[in-house]
Amino acid sequence: MPENHAKLSASGAKKWLNCPGSITLEQGFEDTISTYAAEGTAAHALGEAKLRLALNQITRVQYHKIIKDLEITEDMEEYTDSYRDFVLERYNALKGRFSDTIVQLEQILNFSEWVPGGFGTGDALIIGGDTIEIIDLKYGQGVKVSAKENPQLRLYALGAVSEYGFLFDTQKICTTIFQPRLDNIDTEELTCEYLLKWGKSVIPKAAFADSGTDECHAGEHCDDGFCKARPICRAYAEEKCRMAAMEFRPPAELSIDEIAEIIDQSERLAIWSKLVKEYALNQAVNKGIKYPGFKVVEGRSNRKYSVSDEKIARILTEKGYSEQDIYTKEILGISKIETLLSKKKFNELLGGCVIKPQGKPTLVKMEDKRPEINTAQKAAEDFKEII
Ligand code: SF4
Repeated sequence: MPENHAKLSASGAKKWLNCPGSITLEQGFEDTISTYAAEGTAAHALGEAKLRLALNQITRVQYHKIIKDLEITEDMEEYTDSYRDFVLERYNALKGRFSDTIVQLEQILNFSEWVPGGFGTGDALIIGGDTIEIIDLKYGQGVKVSAKENPQLRLYALGAVSEYGFLFDTQKICTTIFQPRLDNIDTEELTCEYLLKWGKSVIPKAAFADSGTDECHAGEHCDDGFCKARPICRAYAEEKCRMAAMEFRPPAELSIDEIAEIIDQSERLAIWSKLVKEYALNQAVNKGIKYPGFKVVEGRSNRKYSVSDEKIARILTEKGYSEQDIYTKEILGISKIETLLSKKKFNELLGGCVIKPQGKPTLVKMEDKRPEINTAQKAAEDFKEII
């Protein structure tokens, strides 16, 4: 769940644990709510309401009241159904072993014993017998999130142990990332003893990050943690410049490995240059900052009518042009028709009328879900067909 921000938030833990200065550097940047974050918030609210309904914590009337203002897509319905089912399945499994099992939803977890002012919100917390389970719904579909050594989940777990550990004599911790849009369910199991030992190791790092230091260390956490300071961060810039200044050895021709390395680095360099450009434009437009050698100009734009379509049509038909001359008529695109009809009806009526043309070959990282196409073999087959 997006957190009501603690300075050292659990969701930003990977960042401030690796880069203590990020807390200071990010301070000058405002929080912006992206469309993705708004979608994630709606999905969390819907998932929570579905669980509360299934657990008889709310009535159906209350449920509809809660969800009536949410922007819910058909996909969101499916994904939150699977989240609800997963949590219930885990709850029932633990309840089968320990009758005292309870489930807590959207629970504030206080881990300030380890991190100054640290708290966060656990999406689903299941506590029973010697076990605490934490399930975190991730609605994003950009980056696959792992539960292994995930500091956000471990901090939540510390908060849960602090709240319930002694009451339940907790020995085992189970943290899960539930990321339905990427078919990703990933779990880490720890002993409570190990978790507390890890928590101890966090204390000095958290205190240092909280001290106002500007000691920055760049790495994967910068992009993974969407650090807001990236456009102005020297450590991040130096890392990118090191990437750009890769050293190549003879012979004159680049090797296959070197080309792969360049493709890998170019994606990260592209992210950096885009971030810096956006930041600089914002500063130039809103704060009048002048960057040597650059100026702000109006972007290219296309002509458009300044009056309604009806008025344009009236002017033309009065002059003898027919509707056929001035209007084009075309069927709505697949997504719009699918939204209009619902997925089920769409498949029923038009399922047989849709084809998916082969996409253009694209080079992506091995982690990508799409199956690999063997281009050389395919070319040979195509050639065979021709002869
Ligand atoms: S961009 Fe990276 S190095 Fe710079 S402050 Fe953010 S996390 Fe730290």
